[in-house]
Amino acid sequence: MSIQYKTISELRSMLDAKKISSKEIVEETFNLIERNSDLNAFITLNKDAAIAKSIEIENSSVKSSLHGIPIAQKDLFCTKDLRTTCGSNILSNFIPPYSATVIENLENAGCISVGKTNMDEFAMGSSNETSFFGGVVNPWGDKLVPGGSSGGSASAVAAGIVPAATGTDTGGSIRQPASLCGITGLKPTYGRISRWGMIAFASSLDQAGPMARTAEDCAIMLNEMCSHDTKDTTSLSEDIPDFTKELNASIKGLKIGIVKEFDMSKLDDNVVSIFEESKKHYESLGAEFVEVSLPNISLSVPAYYVVAPAECSSNLSRFDGVKFGQRSENPINLEELYIKTRSEGFGDEVKRRILIGSYVLSAGFYDAYYKKAQQVRRLIKNDFDSAFKEVDVIMSPTTRGAAFKAGSKGSDPIQMYLEDLFTIPANLAGLPAMSIPNGMVDNKPIGLQLIGNFLDEKRILQVAHSFQKSTDWHLKTPEGNKLS
Ligand code: GLN
Repeated sequence: MSIQYKTISELRSMLDAKKISSKEIVEETFNLIERNSDLNAFITLNKDAAIAKSIEIENSSVKSSLHGIPIAQKDLFCTKDLRTTCGSNILSNFIPPYSATVIENLENAGCISVGKTNMDEFAMGSSNETSFFGGVVNPWGDKLVPGGSSGGSASAVAAGIVPAATGTDTGGSIRQPASLCGITGLKPTYGRISRWGMIAFASSLDQAGPMARTAEDCAIMLNEMCSHDTKDTTSLSEDIPDFTKELNASIKGLKIGIVKEFDMSKLDDNVVSIFEESKKHYESLGAEFVEVSLPNISLSVPAYYVVAPAECSSNLSRFDGVKFGQRSENPINLEELYIKTRSEGFGDEVKRRILIGSYVLSAGFYDAYYKKAQQVRRLIKNDFDSAFKEVDVIMSPTTRGAAFKAGSKGSDPIQMYLEDLFTIPANLAGLPAMSIPNGMVDNKPIGLQLIGNFLDEKRILQVAHSFQKSTDWHLKTPEGNKLS
């Protein structure tokens, strides 16, 4: 029985009706991984342990929706006794002695981690081309990038290998690849999910989240991923609702904000017309559109590219050849140990970020760059606070266009940075946001972004689900497209 492209809910029904066992699902998952190895979606597989767990849990009493379901884990989450590389040479032999809270939560709910997915090095990138382990292929086209940094997770879900995967989103790394691969991805409110055991990129922006085919499956994943964690001081202690409840609530009378300052002229024509179609669709479901103003939104990308590198330069100082991972051979003294290890271990994009970050934090430039960027960030957050007094959600395209060819943006980092034009603001403001498939451009999927108010994941999931109940963009598969 084929399990390819099945959702969590569908696999759940098959398991509950005893039409298939978890062991059969897991074995079939590894066949799919092998048949799709040209996607390069996985860095490390967890085959023996996964099959052993599928047998072991067969008669267990845990009964969560994820019980016995295969999930792929982004290689940024520490996994006990399973190599965790963060897409980098410097961690290419790192085996963590513990698992991230997210991984523990999911595994305690009975899910089966089948492997670690490929990603941009230390989650820095928008095309998965910065991985030490090579680029990931988007199943929608041979030379197309899957987006990044959670490109391996997006590709694995889009190819129907796993029903869901974990991702992380610092400036768009769940939503942008979800958009480019035609799947659904959710970045929760900052602090909703524990960051403990997530290898830090920019700590004040990083947030884990689910990537799946449907909003319903994202809700199922989110239920298990969230927890209040005393090991992460930014973990929120607010009540965690059941995100699957009220998914079917009507959106009649819902007020959707359209941002006046988002410059649609910079988008592909097709993306604009698809966006307009989606607006009409929401109107037919009873929603109302309201123009909102976010006056400082155009400063999001510049502010992000000061704050994120600053935090990265500090976070990545721990990779010095002493505490973790690779160490360069035969250094003549301590200084050379640091220099050689870091020069050999990090790729170009990571080095660029460390240099920029060290510069903006240095004594002479701190006030001019870092402090200013933090002030701008606060203004952007205030803009959102005012907008959410008028509307329930804010809607925009997720990306400026569909998936692009590998290598096509290589020489100009700014072009790559602009990939996250629409996604970065939600990270700066700490707000929940998701991407759902809403159309195709030249046979390639694109996504629609829904931004919610603080802790209002339930609402954006509802709004996404109502779209998916009445459209079929999320059901499209790249089958037969691979070599186009
Ligand atoms: N593309 C953005 C960057 O390179 C965001 C990455 C992310 O969300 N991890 O910083």
